[in-house]
Amino acid sequence: MKPWLSSHQLILSEQYSNATLPHAILISGVSGSGKLELAQWLVGLLNCKQPNHLVESKERILQSCGHCKSCLLLSSNTFPDHLNLVAQKNSLGVDDVRYANDFLQKTAYLEKFKTVLIESAETMTQQAMNALLKTLEEPSDNSVIILLTNDSEILLPTIISRCRVLNIRPAVGEALISQLKEQNIKEGEFTVEYPALSTDPFVNLTQLPELTNSAINDAFEVFKECYIHYLCYQQGESQLLQHVLNNEHALRWLEQITVNLHREYFLDIIDNEHKRILNAVLLNNLYKIIINACKVIKSYKQANKQFVCEQLIMSMSDVVEQNSK
Ligand SMILES: [Zn+2]
Repeated sequence: MKPWLSSHQLILSEQYSNATLPHAILISGVSGSGKLELAQWLVGLLNCKQPNHLVESKERILQSCGHCKSCLLLSSNTFPDHLNLVAQKNSLGVDDVRYANDFLQKTAYLEKFKTVLIESAETMTQQAMNALLKTLEEPSDNSVIILLTNDSEILLPTIISRCRVLNIRPAVGEALISQLKEQNIKEGEFTVEYPALSTDPFVNLTQLPELTNSAINDAFEVFKECYIHYLCYQQGESQLLQHVLNNEHALRWLEQITVNLHREYFLDIIDNEHKRILNAVLLNNLYKIIINACKVIKSYKQANKQFVCEQLIMSMSDVVEQNSK
């Protein structure tokens, strides 16, 4: 378990013991933050015949026993009182949600809870969200719905308001690096050191791909160099566009690097050579343009990525050119 999940486990364990668990729980966090891990732990706990306490120093956290009939059925995906809803082709339709609603209306076969886990809840269509809303408004006894999302902004506010929201917020910077290392050591994984990133005071979990994969980390460094070169010398526009089009991480990197440069500017730690060019006004304007492009790509499933990215680079070039005058 990721170390930053234990505070949530503790609260949920107490609510389980006191029978005060909410009927709907929305777990929100960036990918890699352990949403699914936390949800599966909770589903296991709710459906186990005889949960026990975690040992180590976290004895107030409960967990499933792992060997009762329910636990065995759950681990083989044949437990009759739990349903996993997973988006097909990046969209979760109204029929899936209606099926889940019917499932929750029936009494439990084995234990007392009926549980539904909806992964990538933001992929629900508008109709699906409306169908889910009905169930959230009138939950059946002992039903627990767990929704997971990377982006709760896309969900209907009325859905969010009917859920207990758990925001998973791992530490940043040095604290995050040391927690990741601690976890890797515990799980016996080989820890690779990435000097550049791991000494970055703002490193955060959205950078997990770079932190755990040396090829991605190398690509990140190349991209960063290309982007800063473009900002300072107005060269390499087409290379930058190619990166953004061909690398699934590049839009996130654009945002990340711009934010970090902005922070460096205010902390007065920006490279002296770049200081005059990379000023707050430029970085702020770039940030707005980048965020807008990210939003368009994220919220419109039909968005033409190539077109949006071309527009993005064009708008960025205008701002960069204006700044150099
Ligand atoms: Zn069990």
